[in-house]
Amino acid sequence: MRAEIIAVGTELLLGQTVNTNATYISTGLAELGIDVYFQTVVGDNAVRIVQAVEIARTRADLIVFTGGLGPTQDDLTKDALAGYLNRGISIHQPSMVKIENLFTSRGMHMVESNRRQANQIEGSDPLVNDAGLAVGNALIVEGTHYVLLPGPPREMKPMFDGPAKAWLRSVMGEERRLFSRLLKFAGIGESSLEQAIIDLIEVQSDPTIAPYAKEGEVAIRLSTKALSLHEADSRLDQAELQIKERVGQYLFANEDIPLEEAVIRLLRVTGRKFASAESLTGGLLAELVTTLPGSSGEFVGGVVTYTNEMKQQLLGIPLSQLEGAGAPGAISESTAALMAERVRDLTDCDFGLSLTGVAGPSEAEGKPVGLVYFGIAERGKPTIVHKAQLSGTRDIIRVRSVKSLLYRFWQLLSAEQPGR
Ligand code: AMP
Ligand code: MG
Repeated sequence: MRAEIIAVGTELLLGQTVNTNATYISTGLAELGIDVYFQTVVGDNAVRIVQAVEIARTRADLIVFTGGLGPTQDDLTKDALAGYLNRGISIHQPSMVKIENLFTSRGMHMVESNRRQANQIEGSDPLVNDAGLAVGNALIVEGTHYVLLPGPPREMKPMFDGPAKAWLRSVMGEERRLFSRLLKFAGIGESSLEQAIIDLIEVQSDPTIAPYAKEGEVAIRLSTKALSLHEADSRLDQAELQIKERVGQYLFANEDIPLEEAVIRLLRVTGRKFASAESLTGGLLAELVTTLPGSSGEFVGGVVTYTNEMKQQLLGIPLSQLEGAGAPGAISESTAALMAERVRDLTDCDFGLSLTGVAGPSEAEGKPVGLVYFGIAERGKPTIVHKAQLSGTRDIIRVRSVKSLLYRFWQLLSAEQPGR
């Protein structure tokens, strides 16, 4: 089944409303195994709505409308489509009762136009609206499937996910659905990752293998069409295994979780905790970790020691370490080690993590932009400090710093795990 989405609304054309409905519907149709070939936007104008339908009919078996089901004069989708299909308009009685009851129960006068929301294209199946008044419609005419959804996302989403998808499933019969799995990597760039598996990407058509990049993390999406999850899983497992053989050391999850969550999970297994001391990242590590619900079991807290004074006052690092002729400086391997050790000891944690470096845009201590040291101080073990020369803008360097540290931390923790 090939689909086209037609979003109706002049506000979309004017740029006042973002067409988030199209994104949502496309995602949902993909999950049903329906390929979306086109997304169209048309204003609240009956002639142009019909033009859009005429075009869509030539290239899609399923046309999903969103918008224009409301009570006002500019809500034209049902009327325009009914006219085009030479169908009349009938009333969906349960919706009419609901509309009338609502106004009666609130003691409000009902403007006649509200009844229009119970309109239905003759011969269509109603799609109930649990979050609003306008009833949706679904119908098949001369082999083309039409689904009409409301515009407000809070009404559209439940109608699409509930009755509209149920209707689509029933008319499609047993069809193959799309299943996908996300493999998440860190510590390797998108191009190196792609290079390592390029032959698999090129040869493999089922499952398809598609790399994605996000700041500091890379993902591969494996997708396959299958009748059941069981059938899909066996194919996805096989592809995952092939990829793992090549680049398994960078693979931190086979589901859509961020690197910090993989770290938290490893700590949770052994009941250990960490604290952080951050300079150039200003608390970004703490922010990422505390975004995860329940992370207080593994992350106790941290300090942002941005200036040398704070490194001295809060962490007790001597000023002679941080500045003056011959001192290693704030941006140095030994300062990163001290920051990690001090915050570990202050908080009595198993691990202290630290970040110090030059976020830019200008150099500091005569050290280049992007030079970052990060420390991992584990109780009872020698402290490890990694040095990295990162590139990018200030924001990107800060994110990459945290992700680089998290990757090293994840590596250390996962190396202890049996069976990895
Ligand atoms: P409508 O019932 O078509 O008049 O839509 C009512 C409201 O829903 C609009 O004013 C928008 O705020 C919102 N809306 C309509 N279409 C979309 C869309 N495609 N994506 C996101 N929001 C929309
Ligand atoms: Mg509208």
